[in-house]
Amino acid sequence: MIIDRVIRDEQFIKGRSHCESCGHELHLKDLIPLLSFIWLKGKCRYCHASIPKILPITELTVAITYASIFYWYLYKSSFSITSTLLSIDSLFFLLFILILFTLLILIFFSDLRYKLIPDIYTLLLVVNFIIFAIIRVLFNLDFAEYSVFFTPIISHVISAVSMLIFFAALFFITRKKALGEGDIYLSGALAIYLTFQLSIIMWFGAFILGSVVGVFLMVVYKKGRKYMIPFGPFLVLGFIVTLLWGNQIINWYLSLLHY
Ligand SMILES: [Zn+2]
Repeated sequence: MIIDRVIRDEQFIKGRSHCESCGHELHLKDLIPLLSFIWLKGKCRYCHASIPKILPITELTVAITYASIFYWYLYKSSFSITSTLLSIDSLFFLLFILILFTLLILIFFSDLRYKLIPDIYTLLLVVNFIIFAIIRVLFNLDFAEYSVFFTPIISHVISAVSMLIFFAALFFITRKKALGEGDIYLSGALAIYLTFQLSIIMWFGAFILGSVVGVFLMVVYKKGRKYMIPFGPFLVLGFIVTLLWGNQIINWYLSLLHY
């Protein structure tokens, strides 16, 4: 709902949702994520127009992501071991992670559905990191096992600036064909969460995933070369892969160089 209303420049705190085809206001029982889609069999109760499948897929993604984050927080992180689950700094770190992943989901599906990344999401990504950085310094926050987020602030700044310069250069060299303007800002905003080395891993990840899917679409669906696939979703996926396995990938790559 947020994705659609931000694109249409509507406010999303108040106001009832309505069908995209007939404009009929939705009943409370039509607003239950996923379940409503299932028992309405993917059609509007009033005009029987098909509800876009991307909506329940988005809802499912949110559910799985939030469940995974809470699972990680309760069982996998060091917080539970040190029994500081409810300490202010671990709760703050949880909030930081939740906001980050919520924004990633909004960007992923917004770009996938509308081929557009509203600036507000990119801006909030940067703001989320800046608030984190300030609190991190002020309260001496440090969870050593999440080293990705706890490298010196300057390395995050270098990472973001170099990605911005690199993508802006690519944007102008390819004469705006390879990338959208939103992709440049998104690259910079994601890179601020990483170090320079890890940003390169993110970029390679996004590029490889994008190429594989692009070739797949060309071969299977006979899409022409002019068919534009949005790059944002691949940047988001590359970023998540980097967060989870970036340091292992770097170590693996360095070990290859030794032989
Ligand atoms: Zn309808």
